[in-house]
Amino acid sequence: MKKKLQRNIIRCKHCNEIIESKSLYDYKRCGCGKVAVDGGLEYAKRSFPSFPAEDHLEDLSEYE
Ligand SMILES: [Zn+2]
Repeated sequence: MKKKLQRNIIRCKHCNEIIESKSLYDYKRCGCGKVAVDGGLEYAKRSFPSFPAEDHLEDLSEYE
């Protein structure tokens, strides 16, 4: 069974801002604009400028 997302949250490694998407259409971009989260608890969608994502963001999402 797929783990259920409890919090959809990341930290930007460029500006250190922590951003959280709380609902499906809650698109949040960090202060410097390099990374974003979307999808709320339906799906963990991330936007970042280039791979690997770990260069730009730290995933702080919580799963059940
Ligand atoms: Zn940033």
